[in-house]
Parts: sequence; C-alpha cells; structure tokens
Amino acid sequence: MGDGVTTCDVLVVGAGPGGGNAALQSARKGLSTILIEDHAEIGTPVHCGECISEIACQNLDLQLPEDVISKRVHGIRVIFPDGTEKCLTEEGYVLEKHLFERWIAEEARSAGAELHLGHKLQSMERVEDGGFGGWMCLGKGDQFPIHAKIVIDASGVAAVCSKLVKMEGESPLNPKGKVVAGMQYEISNVPTDGYLDFYIWPKYAEKGYLWMIPKCDGRANVGLVTEDRPNAKKSLDDFISHTHFSDLDQAMPPWKEKGSPAFGGTIPISGPFLNTHYDGLMLVGDAAGFTSPLFEGGSHLALKSAVYAANTAAAAISEGDLSKERLSEYTDLWKAEFPPYEKILRGKEALFNLTDDEMSLMAKCFPDEMSNMGASGKAMVGIRLLFRKPGLYFKRIVPAMLAFGYSRAKYYGW
Ligand SMILES: Cc1cc2nc3c(=O)[nH]c(=O)nc-3n(C[C@H](O)[C@H](O)[C@H](O)COP(=O)(O)OP(=O)(O)OC[C@H]3O[C@@H](n4cnc5c(N)ncnc54)[C@H](O)[C@@H]3O)c2cc1C
Repeated sequence: MGDGVTTCDVLVVGAGPGGGNAALQSARKGLSTILIEDHAEIGTPVHCGECISEIACQNLDLQLPEDVISKRVHGIRVIFPDGTEKCLTEEGYVLEKHLFERWIAEEARSAGAELHLGHKLQSMERVEDGGFGGWMCLGKGDQFPIHAKIVIDASGVAAVCSKLVKMEGESPLNPKGKVVAGMQYEISNVPTDGYLDFYIWPKYAEKGYLWMIPKCDGRANVGLVTEDRPNAKKSLDDFISHTHFSDLDQAMPPWKEKGSPAFGGTIPISGPFLNTHYDGLMLVGDAAGFTSPLFEGGSHLALKSAVYAANTAAAAISEGDLSKERLSEYTDLWKAEFPPYEKILRGKEALFNLTDDEMSLMAKCFPDEMSNMGASGKAMVGIRLLFRKPGLYFKRIVPAMLAFGYSRAKYYGW
C-alpha cells in the first residue's frame, strides 16, 4: 500500500460488545486488528438494560471481573396485565455496561489489537488486486485511510457497512428492518429480591414491555421498549407515576453529568438481515439484526456472532480467500446456533393479538416457575388453557406460549 495508508488484516467498526469481542478474538488468532469507535470514549451513552445471563457467560467463556458486575440476579419475573407473576429462574448479572465494554476493549488491546477512539467510518471502496483484495476505508480520524483485508461491522443499529456497500436486503421477515424505541431512568432505593421484573403491560408499552432491572446500592434501571416510538417517554413517565416507583427518586446514571436523566436507544426487532456477509465483510450484533425479537436482548448474540466472525476471518485470511463464498461459513455458523427467529416473531405477534384478559388467563395457566417446564408441562398448560377458553386456539395461543420458552437464556433470550 502507498504512503499514509494504515493496513491491517481486520478492521472492526464499533466498540460495543460485538466489536470489542470481534477485536479480542481476531487478535487472539494472531490477526493484525484495528478497532475503531466513533465516540471519544467507549460505552457511553449507555443504551442497554445491562443484563446478561450466567448461561451466556459460560457459553462465551467470559470470566467477568468484579468491577463490571453491578449485581448478581436470580432470573426474570414476568408480570402480566392483571398482576399475575411468573418466574423464570436463571442466574445472571446486571452489569455496569460501559465498564464491561471498556474491559473487553482493553482485553482486545492486551491481545494485540489497536484501539482508536474518535474514529468514524464514512466510506468503503473495494480494492481489486487481480481479484478482491479487501476494503479501502475512509472516515474521520487520523488513522484513515485504512486498508483492511476483512471488515467486521459491529456498528450497532446504525449498520454502517451494509449501507455503505449497498448490501442487499434487511430482514427477510420484515424487509423494512423494524426498530423499537427503548428508554429508561436510573431510580434509587428500589426494593428488590434479586429478580428482574418484566411487565407485559401493553397499556404503557405497545408490543413491548417495561422493566425494573436492579443494580447495586438500591439503584435500578426502570424502562420500556415500545413500538409507539413518539410516545416512549410519556408512556414511561406515566408507568412510573402510576406505580410504586412514583415515590422514589430518579438519579443521574454515574456516567452522565448533565442533560435529561432518561437514556436509551433503538433496537432492531425484525430478525437477522437477509445477508450477513459479503466480499471481505461480516456483520455482527445489532448491525446484523441479531437482537432477540421478544425481550430485545442483544449483547449475548453480539458477543457470540463476533466469535464466529473472527474465526471465519482467521481461516479465510490464512487461505488467502476473502470472497463472499468463503465468508459464507460465518452465516452458516450463526444460523446453526441462533434462536428460531421466525417462531419467536410469530409467537410475539400472537401474544400481542391477545387482549389483556386473555394474556392474564394464559399466565394463570403457567406454573409459578417457568424454567423447568418441559414438553409435557407445556402441553398441560395448553390443555388447561384451551379447556378454560377454547376460542383462544384460533388466536394462536400455542405459538404465543412457545415464544416465552424461546426467551430463555439457553436460547439467547437474556
Ligand atoms: C434501552 C435498551 C435496553 C437494552 N437492554 C438490554 C439488556 O438488558 N440486555 C441485552 O443483552 N441487550 C439489551 N439491549 C440491546 C443491546 O444493547 C444491544 O443488542 C447490544 O449493545 C448490541 O451490541 P453491538 O456491539 O452489536 O452494538 P452497540 O452496542 O450498539 O455498539 C455499536 C458501536 O458502534 C459505534 N459506531 C456506530 N457507527 C460507527 C461508525 N461509523 N464508525 C465507528 N463506530 C461506530 C457506536 O458508537 C457504538 O459504540 C438493550 C437496548 C436498548 C436500546
């Protein structure tokens, strides 16, 4: 390459959980790796409820350092419209997510990756060198231009690279690539027994849900995701003022000094993009649309897809074949492992087709502890429910119930 061009095997775009882990895994494989992040620091503004399950950590072989863990939690309690509560006990963690992301990026640096903050990717041009020879990447920041054999797009919901190279197709399930709005406050002195509370209360969260996610020292994230994006803040404020949270104080999160105490972002909810790889390019995490469509968790999927992308990059580079045909291995890997998006989306649609009373009736037929409901347990619930209200069969209650099953940690649900 000519003067002034930075070169690397792998350029990772975005230092969220997906990008940090893609850089870490690539560096560990001996690839020369550059990780760029648009913001001047990693992890802020936080746009996450900050929870991750123990199963996810085991699956990823993540040994979380104590300082990134805010609280150890027991699982999720789902609260239905009439107040019926059911638990899904699966141990896990609430993180200080910005510290977690900084830790992963620091691990990547220790493994040999270069990290450049304040670097924003703005364009990509194919390099032809008697065949596809990588990408010439341009943008804001003194390391540009960067020539990379392979680019891993971990730019989150912005999905920068697929737009820049005009990759075909978003989700096959919803070609428009639907997103929901997520917003939360940090609240102080919140009582907790160590469960996350998920409220399925469509009155406040249209086709979404609300949460209380407990953190250390009585702090908690109280927030919602909703398809009614323009009214997200008002709906959250109404929920807080109509519930026991109304007596509690809102606090600025520790990483924020001024402005509104509310924080959040958008979340892709229509499932993976039609194409998640291209010549010399792989999309991971939210940039590929991997977020779980029911409860919208995405950190585990971002971290895991990063492992697959790094492994594929290492193999492709060692074989000197950067073509999309070679990188299709990446798509095969995640497809073999990730949740059955179509089933979850169908279940979600059926769930939100129910009235509040029907949802609550369904909840009453679940056992108090949902984590050990096997196939026969689910069948029993179905029979009980249809016996009490046979018409629900036509409202596709069975797929709605099954969607809860797929929200479990082992299916990357939280
Ligand atoms: C309100 C809310 C609550 C959530 N709660 C949870 C939860 O509790 N648990 C969970 O698992 N998931 C949760 N999620 C989803 C989770 O936050 C995401 O799925 C996860 O962060 C995706 O990781 P990522 O690395 O793919 O993308 P991101 O974390 O979005 O990181 C993308 C990074 O790329 C950078 N970037 C973007 N464009 C460029 C560019 N052109 N050049 C350089 N850098 C760029 C961004 O600045 C950002 O740092 C929540 C989301 C929201 C909005």
